[in-house]
Amino acid sequence: MSKVVIVTGSSRGIGAATARLAAERGYAVGVNYRENRSAAEQVVADCRRAGAKAVAVQADVAIETDVVRLFETADRELGRVTALVNNAGILEKQMRVEEMDAVRLARVFAANVTGTFLCAREAIRRMSIMRGGSGGAIVNVSSVAARLGSPGEYVDYAAAKGAVDTLTIGLSKEIAGDGIRVNAVRPGFIYTDIHASGGEPGRVDRNKAGLPMQRGGQPEEVAAAILWLLSDEASYATGTFIDLAGGR
Ligand code: NAP
Repeated sequence: MSKVVIVTGSSRGIGAATARLAAERGYAVGVNYRENRSAAEQVVADCRRAGAKAVAVQADVAIETDVVRLFETADRELGRVTALVNNAGILEKQMRVEEMDAVRLARVFAANVTGTFLCAREAIRRMSIMRGGSGGAIVNVSSVAARLGSPGEYVDYAAAKGAVDTLTIGLSKEIAGDGIRVNAVRPGFIYTDIHASGGEPGRVDRNKAGLPMQRGGQPEEVAAAILWLLSDEASYATGTFIDLAGGR
């Protein structure tokens, strides 16, 4: 059976590393992005160089019609999806909870939580053996923030990732009988652009000395765990979490 993966938010960072590794491992790859088309096209070119089919699809995972279009495009261009990496995620400027307004909270929860639910829904409709699919695997990209809480930085983001963890547990049990495994990775400090959107591009370097391993992580180190969880080597793993946080 041909392997088809959609990686949300894969124009850069952890998602881009995951898309490239998936291509090397024989998946056809749906490279989703929100704004940065040229970065997404570059990832697609890398995937094709590795011999994989790949397509870039603009879609905001927080918008239901966009998510439906993302999966329909993948159906048409790549074939029936067998794997989903729910990677797209955002955080906003560091601030205390007493400063946060409802508009910010809605954005953070829409992208991180609603987007993850909607993409999972579309994947289940295609993968479930109850609906004529061949089963599959979903990996949610959570964060160690879910268990640490991110005080003084972004408790809203941490709480959203807590919701992703609970979704992972509940959904893994709900759809085990549909032939779909659901797991999550929880990265710690990884060198990507996300820290700049929190207002602190150098956040990993500021914190690395305090980590047991005394270094930040690379997106490729997260991608390797994601690809393992998607693979048949992880065939008895569902509802589990792999923390990639240098011992934090
Ligand atoms: P990043 O470098 O900021 O990249 C984010 C990616 O997500 C980009 O491809 C972006 O697309 C896309 N994106 C953002 N919002 C989207 C939306 N609403 N719909 C579709 N795509 C969207 O982030 P990253 O650090 O690689 O993070 C990836 C995941 O890892 C996130 O879920 C994040 O919470 C999690 N994580 C990261 C770290 C870390 O230290 N980096 C730690 C723990 C967890 P555009 O390029 O088009 O904007």
